[in-house]
Amino acid sequence: MNQTALIRGKSYTAQKIILWLLLLGLLLFLTRIGARHYFRDEAVKTGTFPVMVGRVFALWAIALLLLQPVLAARLRFLDRVFGLDRLLKFHRFSGIACLILTSSHPMLMYVSGLKKLGPLSSEQWPEALGGICIVGLWLAVVSSVWRKFLALSYEEWIRLHKFMAPVVILALSHMFIIESAMRKGWLLGFWIVLLVLWASIVIAAKVVFPAQRAASEAFVVSSVSAEADKIWQISLKPAADIERFSFLPGQFAFISVESSEIPHEEHPFTIASAPADSASLQFLIKASGDWTKKLSAVRTGDKVRVSGPFGVFSSYRHQASSLIMIAGGIGITPMLSTLRQLSHEKSDLPVKLIWSYRTSAEAPCLAEIESLRQALPNLEIEKIVSRESSAGKDALTRLDKPALAKLMPEFKAGALVMLCGPTAMMSDVRVALQALGYPSSAMLCEEFSL
Ligand SMILES: Cc1cc2nc3c(=O)[nH]c(=O)nc-3n(C[C@H](O)[C@H](O)[C@H](O)COP(=O)(O)OP(=O)(O)OC[C@H]3O[C@@H](n4cnc5c(N)ncnc54)[C@H](O)[C@@H]3O)c2cc1C
Repeated sequence: MNQTALIRGKSYTAQKIILWLLLLGLLLFLTRIGARHYFRDEAVKTGTFPVMVGRVFALWAIALLLLQPVLAARLRFLDRVFGLDRLLKFHRFSGIACLILTSSHPMLMYVSGLKKLGPLSSEQWPEALGGICIVGLWLAVVSSVWRKFLALSYEEWIRLHKFMAPVVILALSHMFIIESAMRKGWLLGFWIVLLVLWASIVIAAKVVFPAQRAASEAFVVSSVSAEADKIWQISLKPAADIERFSFLPGQFAFISVESSEIPHEEHPFTIASAPADSASLQFLIKASGDWTKKLSAVRTGDKVRVSGPFGVFSSYRHQASSLIMIAGGIGITPMLSTLRQLSHEKSDLPVKLIWSYRTSAEAPCLAEIESLRQALPNLEIEKIVSRESSAGKDALTRLDKPALAKLMPEFKAGALVMLCGPTAMMSDVRVALQALGYPSSAMLCEEFSL
């Protein structure tokens, strides 16, 4: 095992600050470029205040548009610093910001009187390019925010979303054609440097890195079994004699299966095995939708691609003096990986696992988790079974505020809470923990949705 993967306490604060400062610096620089006419004599002709704001908005929108594929490209470095889930949240937020900025841009031009309201003439095709760009952005944002309402499956939405790539080219063409200043002197130099840098990052992320990793991401199914009701346990071993797949307990990977019976799609799953386990990777997958329901067709020997690891939901990135794990249903998988790793280390870390599930038949690896107490002397397990008639009269059946008040120890500095489960449960638990004096900084949360 790659021991370097298990160094605790690396927070990447410096890298975070540098990356935020770079983005802020770029936006400030673009503000200066957009506002340049306003501070010169040209202001009399073209530099009214709304025009200046419109130009600045358009330049900010272009910066955010360029950022979009970088945020979504699953770059390992950015994932280590911020976590893929947060990068994708920022991707969604900056997409909406981009839409607001681009939609305001033509309005400000009309308000200033620089452009006349009405149908565009044939000479105004560069303006039409900008218009198409705005329509594309509306499509991207509406289909993302209201995906479920529009009854779009995740795969249909991804295909539509990828179709948005030309929007960046349209926005840049619109700017270069209309703003002649951008095609001259040092400003042209600035755009060439920025665009070459951007294209290199995108090409590296989409083409070069995947090609380099193809061999190390190739696995085959070594065993597959039903671990609990509607939950598959799939174990994988590397297809070739490759360097070990190194990850932290709690991290996830995207997997895709090569089988004529299973659609060739990538889906994210937490690695349930521990880094210290033998050369195989184990996943526990709940049949919850179209694709996961088809996993009953997986056979030993099927080829699987594993892209990862990703995510920052790992106690191994922190210096914790005690660990409280709160899991709902299949949200146990990151906890299981962590517990398995701690048991390999014969750790004496105080750990409390609070696991809420419906019935024992739906709880994967229950017996194994109970047995981990032997290797982990300070492991405490609290089970909350919501749908089992055999549960005693005083047994807790809901993971709610009163239950947490009973089960949670008083907060002590150094305690770390790991929380993973259904979205509604997680938000209720977060609120309850805050009320019990647990600060947000002591909570790590993983939602099983990106
Ligand atoms: C970080 C992370 C770790 C996860 N770990 C586990 C685990 O250990 N065990 C487990 O059973 N489940 C896990 N999941 C959930 C699992 O990824 C989804 O249940 C699965 O992708 C659903 O696919 P489906 O087509 O069967 O269901 P659908 O009903 O089609 O999809 C349900 C929802 O899953 C999400 N989703 C679907 N396809 C994708 C995709 N290709 N990429 C990203 N999201 C998608 C969408 O939000 C969608 O609305 C994890 C999810 C994430 C984000």
